[in-house]
Amino acid sequence: MEKREQLYEGKAKKVFATDDAELVIVSYKDDATAGDGAKKGTIRGKGVVNNRLSNALMQKLAAQGVPTHYVRELNDRETLVKKVEIVPLEVIVRNVAAGSFSKRLGVAEGTPLRCPTLEFSYKNDDLHDPLINHYHALAMGLATQEEIDTITAYAFKVNGLLREVMLEAGIRLIDFKLEFGRLPDGGIVLADEISPDTCRFWDAKTNAHLDKDLFRRDLGGEEDAYREVMRRLLG
Ligand code: ADP
Ligand code: UDP
Repeated sequence: MEKREQLYEGKAKKVFATDDAELVIVSYKDDATAGDGAKKGTIRGKGVVNNRLSNALMQKLAAQGVPTHYVRELNDRETLVKKVEIVPLEVIVRNVAAGSFSKRLGVAEGTPLRCPTLEFSYKNDDLHDPLINHYHALAMGLATQEEIDTITAYAFKVNGLLREVMLEAGIRLIDFKLEFGRLPDGGIVLADEISPDTCRFWDAKTNAHLDKDLFRRDLGGEEDAYREVMRRLLG
């Protein structure tokens, strides 16, 4: 597999072309941003943790019937994935109130929700990823009804599987964000990443944050927390 030109540089990852038009290489950086880009910094070792963790979790999900973009881990920071057309929706699943949900709806952070809930944001940096409903997504042509049904079913399935995997490692899955993509044949697969950057993980005993909130909220200890999540899940 030959690495070719850089196609894209995002806030946390770079994407490179390969000699196969259907495959790209994602390269995970240590760069971290928060507050819509207002805070910028580095979490040392984050790229390695997110790459390895995301790959391990996606392999588990694939084995349980959730198709993903994952193909092969190339090294500590780089992974070969199927190139997809990203559906411009951030799909957020929540088990416990936190973050924007708590702020917007006045539900104290840490309040367990009566059932898992799901919301969509329109993935658009200029508009600051606004919350939308599924009718908006349909009306704007962001996805078809069939795609939204598939994405919703996969997202709740990921929640059930991921909750179990995390709890075995002594971690509560509070909420998380997923992105999905379209393969050339139109099939929907889970893409992007699943990591402490994109999930809220709380220690099952102490409720200590083991995720990017440590960085977002200037709490400190994020490097150790990322390493700890990797240690608990991958040994
Ligand atoms: P951002 O674009 O929000 O700054 P990243 O730094 O994580 O985010 O950049 C990675 C980019 O690659 C994102 O835009 C993401 O949607 C996209 N992406 C993730 N997986 C794939 C894939 N399999 N094929 C094509 N693009 C992908
Ligand atoms: N999230 C993410 N990327 C985003 C927004 C949110 O990965 O651009 C994740 C975040 O890590 C959390 C979940 O989605 O696990 C819900 O985030 P929330 O809506 O509460 O937003 P925040 O409080 O981060 O602004």
